[in-house]
Amino acid sequence: MTEIIGRGPDDIVRSYREAFGDDRLIVVSNREPYEHRWGEDVGEVLVKRPAGGLTSALDPLMQSVGGVWIAWGSGDADAAVVNQEDRVMVPPEDARYTLRRLWLDQHDVNRYYLGYSNQFLWPLCHYRPALTRVRARYWERYRRVNRRFADAVLDESRGGGAAVWIQDYHLALAAAHVRSKRPDLSLAHFWHIPWPPVEIFEVTPQAGKLMRGLLANDLMGFQLPSHRNNFLRCALTLVGAEIDWERHTATLDDHTCHVRDFPISIDIDSFVEAATRPGSDEAVARLRDRYCPKDGQLGIGVDRMDYSKGLPEKLKTLDFLFERYPEYRERFTFVQVGVPSRTDIEAYDELTQKVDRLVWEVNDRHGTPGWQPIHLIKQSLPAERLAILYRAADVCIVASLRDGMNLVAKEFVVCQTDERGVLLLSRFAGAARELGHSLQVNPYDPEDFARILRDALALSPERRAELVRANQAELRNIYDWMADIFDTWGRIRNGSELDPVEELS
Ligand code: UDP
Repeated sequence: MTEIIGRGPDDIVRSYREAFGDDRLIVVSNREPYEHRWGEDVGEVLVKRPAGGLTSALDPLMQSVGGVWIAWGSGDADAAVVNQEDRVMVPPEDARYTLRRLWLDQHDVNRYYLGYSNQFLWPLCHYRPALTRVRARYWERYRRVNRRFADAVLDESRGGGAAVWIQDYHLALAAAHVRSKRPDLSLAHFWHIPWPPVEIFEVTPQAGKLMRGLLANDLMGFQLPSHRNNFLRCALTLVGAEIDWERHTATLDDHTCHVRDFPISIDIDSFVEAATRPGSDEAVARLRDRYCPKDGQLGIGVDRMDYSKGLPEKLKTLDFLFERYPEYRERFTFVQVGVPSRTDIEAYDELTQKVDRLVWEVNDRHGTPGWQPIHLIKQSLPAERLAILYRAADVCIVASLRDGMNLVAKEFVVCQTDERGVLLLSRFAGAARELGHSLQVNPYDPEDFARILRDALALSPERRAELVRANQAELRNIYDWMADIFDTWGRIRNGSELDPVEELS
């Protein structure tokens, strides 16, 4: 693979220390990086790492810098392993930082997490206002739980300075609570999902309160310039903040929030290592033997079962492919990993049923006695197995209808150590901005999507290798993402002048 020269864990520690000295780093997120669960044997405790972009991205960084990570203790054995202050050191095999757990009861989970976060903010920020569910009790609980996260931050920062880094849409009000008690702390928030245009965000009954909550940060980070600009327009329109469009700041009640875009990435080395470690060639060959037709091709998809991922659209595309280009029957097999997600929410349940039905229909329509066109694997795979799956594929399809970034796309690209796999990438995924050498598709147009898929399958090995190398050359490491954030945040902290941001997209 093209050598990627970037910053590493040591640079992150240096960047952080230059910016914040001995101040403690406090990361705050809903999801925890390690979950303790009871095993089958009496008293046995297993450690699980929940799948998801956020925790897989931040854990290596916390391991380098140290500090505290505050999160919901969601595992059934979580309470059994913490000390009296609800703290446990992680990773379990090599203690590097503190995980401080916060407990949510069933009402909290139903209303703050499944309710306001995942049935209001998630669909809204993915441009699907029709899927939102507005309930006063959801909002009440969201406020209350946000305050509890903020109280945990105040507790962990007692007696010293701290840089508090809040993650994502579950915690939009936390910064304002912290700032009201400790205006000396430095606060940043990274919003991992898209931020919609003001015409969508303004349907939020509590739009002004959310904006004020977020503008209490010193730095607000987004994946893309368009999300950043949507947020600034919301700050102007919904709460009358003063906007500096050159420096990308929003000032409200004498406090200035800097708003920047920082596209998140992945730990490149760990994926390359997993894709090439001893035994990987055999594992790739076994996987191709199992799924790929003889002298044929293998396609893959890896998504949470979420309506933002365009799974029905992807399946419709496969249907068109086998119908319009029958030469691909028995010559192209598709393996879709569909990780069950938010199964307590009706829209997710409906999606799962729809996906099951569509897979069945395509297999029924195009399958033959010895060949099944689509295999749906409804489970979460560890990163090491994903790396092998990525490497084994001739194409990977990401069909998101709207996606903040899509880390799977980046993981797939770095695992192409044989320079074989072509990426078909929705232009509505944030990753499309960097991965310009993928074949970009519009998932709302499945016929054209199928044509592009056919073109991808017909590419020569030389062209594939060119595309792989060109995409790999565009990718930056997760450590660059974090160093960029710390550099910007540190300059804000130390009052140094920030460069004006040039492009206005
Ligand atoms: N993932 C995983 N096991 C799986 C499927 C996905 O560990 O079976 C990981 C994947 O490697 C990626 C993350 O989950 O790091 C998904 O991130 P992405 O940005 O693609 O989507 P999200 O689920 O965060 O919306």
